[in-house]
Amino acid sequence: MTASIRNLLTQTADRAATYFETLDQRRVAPTPDAVARLDELDEPLPEAPTSAYDVLAMLDGIGSPATVASAGNRYFGFVTGGSLPAALAANWMAGAWDQNAAFRVQSPIAAKIEDVAMRWVLDVLRLPGTSAVSFATGATMANFTALVAARHAVLAQVGWDVASDGLFGAPPITVVVGEEAHSTLFRVLSLLGMGNQRVIRVPVDEQGRMRAEMMPELSGPTIVCAQAGNVNSGGVDPIADICARAHAAGAWVHVDGAFGLWANAAPARSHLTAGVDAADSWATDAHKWLNVPYDSGLAIVRDPQSLRAALRLTAAYLPQTDSREPSQFTPEVSRRARGIEVWAALRSLGRSGLADLIERNCQFATMFADGLRAAGATVLNDVVLNQVVVTFGDAETTRRVMTAIQQDGTCWCGPTIWRGQTAVRISVSSWATTEPDVEQSLAAIVRVAREVRSYA
Ligand SMILES: *Cc1c(COP(=O)(O)O)cnc(C)c1O
Repeated sequence: MTASIRNLLTQTADRAATYFETLDQRRVAPTPDAVARLDELDEPLPEAPTSAYDVLAMLDGIGSPATVASAGNRYFGFVTGGSLPAALAANWMAGAWDQNAAFRVQSPIAAKIEDVAMRWVLDVLRLPGTSAVSFATGATMANFTALVAARHAVLAQVGWDVASDGLFGAPPITVVVGEEAHSTLFRVLSLLGMGNQRVIRVPVDEQGRMRAEMMPELSGPTIVCAQAGNVNSGGVDPIADICARAHAAGAWVHVDGAFGLWANAAPARSHLTAGVDAADSWATDAHKWLNVPYDSGLAIVRDPQSLRAALRLTAAYLPQTDSREPSQFTPEVSRRARGIEVWAALRSLGRSGLADLIERNCQFATMFADGLRAAGATVLNDVVLNQVVVTFGDAETTRRVMTAIQQDGTCWCGPTIWRGQTAVRISVSSWATTEPDVEQSLAAIVRVAREVRSYA
């Protein structure tokens, strides 16, 4: 048993290392042949057992060629971080441990490492040190978790216990969002019973930032959702101003900072997020800019009690201790210990390594923007962070250039519509991207854009 586990894991490591080593030599998008071969997985449920080696061989043989090389250095689609080596290694170790992070007694290491990771996250993001941190699957569920606390707190203020009595008959909550709030936030609002259509949408400026001066007069239970990092432009809402106005009316301010919140960890960019620490809750992704493996998000709540009260859980057999019990702060009870990779990423980068990673990515975005402008493309956004939104002519030409970029395979970027214009979106979010990667990608984009335009 032990010997065969050792062999299996050694072989797994070997296959994974080969995958990693060849990532930057292969096309970013898988070949159509590799995708077609996935049909080999479409077999009936096997009646009899198969050896773990054969299962692994199938996974690697059929699966690896059909992956998108998003863990590599020239993937600029969506907002996608890679996996830092230390975070990947920690993820494997955590897989071997197979700890349930629900209660301290189930895994002292999982609880402890989350305690530490939590403290470091607050420190490096420069948020109030006594806040609660909840380890979530991603920014969607981190927004959900933080807003569970917000919903609880604003209703508790008017004497309503939503955890016990629900929303039926509850005083209404006014929800204010920017016109450019992320699509997932609207799903979260509907999951929370707060509706995604009855929200007040505040107009935004040309970078998609909420115009704080156009916020309505607020009164009664109110939650204002601000955004740090527009998924297209990278624009950050004027959070200090929003907080001042909202707090004057007793409202709760939540910040969706899925990637943009990390600007607060980079001294040369933190002017963008100035005053973000005045909010009441924040959500961010660790699988985006912190570069830990999927899935990993963080909900942060200034007043830990509001999160605990919203998520309260009692049963005779559950441990009641004075220490922080991880499951007091997450919607899930049994779950993997996501703090492990967060800890490993921060332990390996340190404060300066994280700041360098963020700053480097932002500078690469500027390189892309400058290079594309020089080649005659139009950059639609102010490139303040890691996002570039670019057009190559009219919508049809831009779409064709984007398809050609993806087919060329040197790098990958995706489509978007920004302020009514069909555009290509480039997001530089990986620790692995280097200056030569940017030069090589830029050259490929400019080359295919010329080809497309000369045939047009
Ligand atoms: C990516 C993103 C989300 C959703 O994050 P997931 O990790 O996909 O759940 C929410 N808000 C913003 C601003 C984002 O960029």
